[in-house]
Formats: sequence, structure tokens, C-alpha cells
Amino acid sequence: MKSIYLLLIVGSYGFGSCNQDVKSEEPENTIETPEQQPKVKPKNIIFMIGDGMGLTQITAGMIAKKDNLNLERCPIIGLSKTESADNIITDSAAGATAFSTGVKTYNGAIGVGTDTLPLKNIIEIVETHNIATGLVATASITHATPASFIAHQKSRFMDQEIAADFLNTDIDVFIGGGKTHFTQREDQQNLLKQLEEKGYNIATGIEEVEAVGDGKLAGFIADDHPVKMSEGRGDVLTRATKAAINLLVMGDKGFFLMVEGSQIDWGGHANESDYIISEMIDFDNTIGAVLDFAEKNGETLVIITADHETGGYAINGGDRAAGTVDGAFTTDYHTATMVPVFAFGPGAEIFSGIYQNTAIFNKMLASYGISIE
Ligand SMILES: [Zn+2]
Repeated sequence: MKSIYLLLIVGSYGFGSCNQDVKSEEPENTIETPEQQPKVKPKNIIFMIGDGMGLTQITAGMIAKKDNLNLERCPIIGLSKTESADNIITDSAAGATAFSTGVKTYNGAIGVGTDTLPLKNIIEIVETHNIATGLVATASITHATPASFIAHQKSRFMDQEIAADFLNTDIDVFIGGGKTHFTQREDQQNLLKQLEEKGYNIATGIEEVEAVGDGKLAGFIADDHPVKMSEGRGDVLTRATKAAINLLVMGDKGFFLMVEGSQIDWGGHANESDYIISEMIDFDNTIGAVLDFAEKNGETLVIITADHETGGYAINGGDRAAGTVDGAFTTDYHTATMVPVFAFGPGAEIFSGIYQNTAIFNKMLASYGISIE
């Protein structure tokens, strides 16, 4: 009798929370529950987003590499439900805003809610606790994913306004493409000059980025979007990420760094397996460097996930010995499937399970021991 009773409770709890998820029209912004408190709190968090990186993208990378991927070093795995406030299929803006603010919003929104009003993002929140902050991407730094961690704009296409929002924060390090959004502007302002006046080192090209030894950094690795791996981008994502870590680790209160492998998504939009695979392996190489750092550092939580899957990508065959896949696609846009979450380091255990993408925001803040009102 006792075990049946327990099963019923579990069953009704499960259905209850499922219904809640489906019916809920309000953005879900749950406060952290006791279960979500990590046993040991990390000092630093490195949050890595493979844009459009579903399980098939990961599997294709494994087959092509003919070896384990670095993300397989993560002992904790979860699943994230990705839908946005207005669509079962999220875009990168709403997906990243869910991570950065803990609120589901409409597709295209950059750090604002369904009412288009600004939401406090994780960079703004942790900065008030003297935690150093950084962003690295293989797209323009004003592109939807990184933008949602810094800016508050009603549309992802407002690159000029998004660039200006960098001046309104105390972010310590950002490295990506998109320099022209700071220099060739309708308002005739040179934002690089203003960033310099705010104390930033301005670096153009990965060598200059790596040469900055301390202080704040605005690093540009391209005028617009950095080129594809297949067009010779090289290992700039890994190098930029290492450069960012080197600067951020100097603060004694810990740091938050978001790293985006931006173009896995673009390979999905293009329905090109080769594009997906080269970007996936590049992102995974960066994951390897980050996990090496975290392993040595011992106080760093690494979380690796995606905002959504792109392409409805499937592997319908292939040759494991040759490292080739027979890829197929159901769409040239995103899909609504859940995406994996990998976690490594102190506090990783709270990332197991199945939860909304917004829960990742709450889990990250809980990891720092920061509670939001
Ligand atoms: Zn996309």
C-alpha cells in the first residue's frame, strides 16, 4: 500500500508541473529551491552556448573527429526546454534572454520582457557583487546571443543601439566581431573612443587581443561577423576565450564568462553538415581549453548548452571509419526539441534533470550564492 501511495504522489506531481508548463503564459521566473543549492559554490562560472547545437550536431562532431569530444568530460547532463514566450520554436534572442534574465520573452527580444521593458541580466546582477564579467563570440558581439547578456532592445536587428548599450555596463572583457557597429554609425559617434575613455584597451585582431596584459578589454576579431572555420578563421575562439580568462581571473571576487560558438547554428540554417561539423569541433576545442582551465583552477563551474537546435538535423547513415555522416534536415530554421546541458566543476550537480531554459539563470545565480528579490 505504501509504495502505491508514493507512486501516486509522484505521478500527480509530475502531471501537475507538466500542466503548469503548458498552460503558463506568464514568463516563468522561479526562485531557486533548496534542491538547486550546490553543495560547494564555485567562484567562477564559464557559460558556453553552442548556438543551434542539438544532439545530432554533437554526434556528427564525434563521428567526424573519430574520437571523444571534450564535452564528454562533463559528468553531469541535463535537458533544457527551449520554447519562447510567443512561439514553441525559440530564436537566439529569446533563448539567450532566458539564460541571461531567467524570463521567457518573445522571439527577437534582446534583454527585455514581453512588455519590451528592460530585464536585469546576469552580468548586471553579478557586477554589483564585484564579480568580473566577459563575453566571447564567433559572431558580431552585437549579435542576438551575446547582445542578450548586455543590451536591452526590443529587436535583435538594432545592432547600433545594441553596440551603444555596451557603454552602459561595466563589463570587463568582450571579444567578437562587429567592429563597424561601433565605428560606422548613423549618430556619427565613435564608440571605440568612448570605450577607451571608460578605460578599455581596444584591440583589433587576435594578436592584439592576446597582447593585452591587464585591465578592461574591447576586442574585435572582425569588422562584421568572423568568417567560417572552413574559410580560415583558425582557432580564434579558443585563443579569445583563453585571453578573456587570463584577464578575468585576476579579480579576486571571481568571474562570469559567456562563450558562444555562434556558427554551429549557421551551418544548420545552411543545411550543410560540413559547416556544422567544422564549427562543432571548433567549439569543442574551446570547451577542451576551458575544461583544462577549470580542472586546474578547481573553483570554476563550466556549463555547456545550446539555445535551441537548428535544422531538424538527423544522421541517416555514414561511415564511422571514414568519419563521414549522411546528414538530413527537416527545416532551414530552428526546431522545438530539447537541448542537452553539460556541467563540470563545483555546483555541477544542480544541472542534472529536465527543466526550462530559464532555470539555468536561477541555477547560475544559486551557484554564486546570489539571491534575487
Ligand atoms: Zn539561428
